[in-house]
Amino acid sequence: MLPILGQNSLKDSYGRAIRDLRISITDRCNFRCIYCMPETGVKWKQKSEILSYEELTFLTEVFVSLGITKIRVTGGEPLLRRGVVRFIESLAKIPGIEDLAMTTNAYFLPEFAEKLSKAGLKRVSISIDSLRPRSFELLTKVNALDRVLAGIEAARKYNLTPIKVNMVVMRGINDLEIVDFATFARKYGLVARYIEYMPLDGPGEWRREMVVSGKEIYEQINEHYPLVPLHPNHKSETARRYGFADGTAGEIGIIAPVTEPFCGACSRIRLTADGQIRTCLFSLNEHNLRDLLRNGANRTDIVDFIAEAVLKKEAGHRINEPDFIPPERTMSCIGG
Ligand code: SAM
Ligand code: SF4
Repeated sequence: MLPILGQNSLKDSYGRAIRDLRISITDRCNFRCIYCMPETGVKWKQKSEILSYEELTFLTEVFVSLGITKIRVTGGEPLLRRGVVRFIESLAKIPGIEDLAMTTNAYFLPEFAEKLSKAGLKRVSISIDSLRPRSFELLTKVNALDRVLAGIEAARKYNLTPIKVNMVVMRGINDLEIVDFATFARKYGLVARYIEYMPLDGPGEWRREMVVSGKEIYEQINEHYPLVPLHPNHKSETARRYGFADGTAGEIGIIAPVTEPFCGACSRIRLTADGQIRTCLFSLNEHNLRDLLRNGANRTDIVDFIAEAVLKKEAGHRINEPDFIPPERTMSCIGG
């Protein structure tokens, strides 16, 4: 089939316009979140396997010329990679990017927030899965809650807003903190996002019983702080959004990919640190853009390759199918 390339638009075979690119710049991380990475034995990619910033900037510019408007830089932990501020600066110069965001564990944000903001980063999403120091350490294997809180403060100081704070809710691990997390959002005017635990963990210990459903999360919060629905920001919004009925600042977002899949409106593709296009978080096949680029492909070849890859975007994930097979890469290696 011929690539469907309209005016500035990349469309998949189901007619979904692809607007959102998540770029992982490293598979390395200084945390070992239990839902993401095994604690030991992780084999990092070699430097030569990872796309250089020059390669990434060039490819991003090509993606943007094809209609991508939202870029999220992620990892692994993106702030671990040297030169990240200059990379953000080079992305910010690409005309056509309307939203330039980063997902980070915030450990290095106290040092980086000002520089990132000056470089042109618009906003950050920060992972913080527990507000209790001991439980934070059990979840991430690092005693760093204070640093992460300082990172959130720094993001606010340097206007990397709206700040979204992400909590992956796991039954028996941090589900007793659902309401506390909403209290935290209200206190600091944050967007608290509750994410269902997905089968993308390093240790391979995901069990359906550990998933706390979006419905259950909503009911717990709503009982304590009555919620009012908010309109989605855009058609492909992953989170169901709520405000507080009493008018207090802050927002709740519930992301329920397991119990309420939102694949029908998906506008995302991903580029891994080693240059593979992934058309779904759960893809079992990847598209090797790195080797194409390094073998001397010209811009037209790259455009065609991207368009062909997008045409192979899956209708949706198959987490709830009996024959579901999780991808080999963990979330840290895909780029969430
Ligand atoms: N290191 C950065 C961070 O933690 O924010 C960026 C990369 S991390 C892989 C991106 C996001 O993926 C985080 O918000 C994390 O909570 C989420 N994530 C990782 N593993 C997950 C899983 N098994 N289920 C749901 N979300 C997951
Ligand atoms: Fe690292 Fe982020 Fe994965 Fe935690 S979620 S291990 S901080 S990549």
